[in-house]
Amino acid sequence: MIHVVGNAAIDTVIRVDHLPQRGETIVALGAADDLGGKGANQAIVIARCECDVRLVASVGDDLAGERIRRNLAAEGVRIDGLRIWTGRTDRCVICVDRDGENTIVSVVDAASSFDPIGADCIGRRVAPGDWMILQGNLRASVTRACLALAKEKGALTALNPSPVYLAAEYDWSLVDLVVLNSGEAVALGGCPDPIEAARALLAAGAESVVVTLGAEGAMLLSGRDTMRVRAAVTAAVDTTGAGDVFCGALIASRAAGRRWREALIVAAEAAAICVARAGVLASFPTREELAAVFRRPIPEPA
Ligand code: ATP
Repeated sequence: MIHVVGNAAIDTVIRVDHLPQRGETIVALGAADDLGGKGANQAIVIARCECDVRLVASVGDDLAGERIRRNLAAEGVRIDGLRIWTGRTDRCVICVDRDGENTIVSVVDAASSFDPIGADCIGRRVAPGDWMILQGNLRASVTRACLALAKEKGALTALNPSPVYLAAEYDWSLVDLVVLNSGEAVALGGCPDPIEAARALLAAGAESVVVTLGAEGAMLLSGRDTMRVRAAVTAAVDTTGAGDVFCGALIASRAAGRRWREALIVAAEAAAICVARAGVLASFPTREELAAVFRRPIPEPA
């Protein structure tokens, strides 16, 4: 079982000619709502990889919360870990202009008030050999407590530290696998080179670190292995969500027993599908596309 402990929200994407200035009122070119939140995104990718996955998150007692529960269940994500909060579901308003530049405003009340251990959403359900993956939308102390609980239960832990907390808030010795982009690595590793920064996280106790490098692919660093995989070739349309697809597919592959090289190549191919299409969840690879990625023979190392 893979436990994704994080957030779920409704994203409203509003297309505009230009981003509004202070005090300006403008007319949108179009708008669409979709399920969002890094926790929900990663859980959906993992479910589409045919893994047994549950999402532990907080949603409101409103229509948006009901919609999230229904959509996740339809995706095959277990929803017994969703806490229904007396309040509104978190939402994110994303304005995107004609050049693809955006501004994002997030309401995070449901996530920031959520304590999954106190709410008894995870404790009894985590078994030895399970995976638990967290992101950066819960409070730092809650994230640390969940990682500690997972280790205590004999589960494997993964952390995708996005958004990042202050560097001092992390205990890297609780993390088996860190997956982060180069900006996050630089912010947390305390040096301007992302690979050197990743080494600093290893030195601080993380078991393995995967740094994603956008169109340059990704790099794994661990005590035993160091390897780099290229990004799969694609014409990039919109990279939003690529990090969540990469992370979900990587964890699903590792949980299914794939070796590092295979898991990294699968993750890069899954992320490339997302990059080639517009939108966030709307751009994610389907179950069929992921099955094709998993079936493809892995090329021998050059
Ligand atoms: P985002 O925040 O946009 O979701 P991120 O900043 O967390 O993404 P990136 O390092 O930008 O993460 O991308 C994650 C992975 O997606 C990369 O490791 C790569 O495999 C794939 N990817 C990103 N950009 C491209 C691209 N232009 N072409 C092909 N693959 C890409």
